[in-house]
Amino acid sequence: MSNVTVCARFRPLNSKEKRDNGDKICIRNLDSETFVFKDEKDEDFTFCFDRVFYQESQQADVYEFLALPIVQADAVNAINGTIITYGQTGAGKTYSMEGLGILECDGEQKGLLPRVVDGLFECLRSVDEITKYTVKLSMIFSLLRVKVLQYLLEILFLRDLFDLSKDNLQIKEGKLQGIFLYGVTESLVSSTWINLQIFHETLTYTEMNMASSRSHCAYIFTIQLETAKDRRVKTGKLILVDLAGSEKVEKSGAEGRVLEEAKTINKSLSALGNVINALTIGTPGKANHIPYRDSKLTRILQDSLGGSSRTALLCCCSPSTLNSSESLSTLRFGARHAIGLTSEAKHIRTSTRVSCIEDKVDKKQTMPSPIK
Ligand code: ADP
Ligand code: MG
Repeated sequence: MSNVTVCARFRPLNSKEKRDNGDKICIRNLDSETFVFKDEKDEDFTFCFDRVFYQESQQADVYEFLALPIVQADAVNAINGTIITYGQTGAGKTYSMEGLGILECDGEQKGLLPRVVDGLFECLRSVDEITKYTVKLSMIFSLLRVKVLQYLLEILFLRDLFDLSKDNLQIKEGKLQGIFLYGVTESLVSSTWINLQIFHETLTYTEMNMASSRSHCAYIFTIQLETAKDRRVKTGKLILVDLAGSEKVEKSGAEGRVLEEAKTINKSLSALGNVINALTIGTPGKANHIPYRDSKLTRILQDSLGGSSRTALLCCCSPSTLNSSESLSTLRFGARHAIGLTSEAKHIRTSTRVSCIEDKVDKKQTMPSPIK
């Protein structure tokens, strides 16, 4: 079974979409894994994911399916994990990741992050063999700066959200630690989400706003376990990434510096796509080559993406026909890894998936073409 789980989530229509476009939506759900998507030209595509969360889905459903198995693997066996939200700005990435109002989220609307913290400690407390554990958290976001000489040199910087003066964190690799960020602030997380709220309260609103739609935001948990059996300390890493908006640059009307920034975001997102692709179906002509080094984003995730690590990707979309072109590109980003619809994916996917699609699909419908 693949260690990569890919899900799609559609948020409810927002008031702008309803006002401008009524309740026209671009999806027709078939079941919990499959739906038909209608594009701008009225063409139908059928998509199949490990799980589809439709408009009425609850935060708890997303956590249980997507994150809980990763949390358990991490807490019990120190197996690294990564949970990623992907999609255009406004599609529900931060809502899925953090929930509604990060400081007041103790109800149903709690997102993955607070649930992961609670889940981690619940698991850690329930495993008898573990005698001691510590959980540390680092929060970083990508900061875009353009350095133009003859060429565009370097534009993705990494900033410490706990100490904003550290705005150019370097990625290092150690024999014991694996990949790490040199000098990043690591805060001890105690047993509840409340503790994490305090960290957030130390950040001003403006600082949080800096982690805007043009930044990737990563929450890095380091979990150290000491087992009763041999007193060896095992370390697991769990990274939650709320990615920058994936919308196309041309459409946003960006110019100059903003345009260059947006291009870099798109570059790091496609580097991530290539890594996930290589992990699930391999890189054509380059067996076992996973292109982690192509961006800082993939480099940070290197040892919690691939190998025995567990990865979950949540593709967030608007269901409105107004946004169908961006939603289609988000779904394709995930679908080429999740299902056997594209030619390169077909041969590695089990026939059950493909036949499950064929059973449900009207023969006239076309399949999405592979992403270039
Ligand atoms: P993104 O982080 O992808 O830019 P947000 O998560 O900020 O988008 O979502 C945009 C708006 O839509 C926010 O006001 C958010 O509360 C709302 N929203 C997103 N997903 C849902 C959902 N599943 N249920 C209810 N509201 C949602
Ligand atoms: Mg967001």
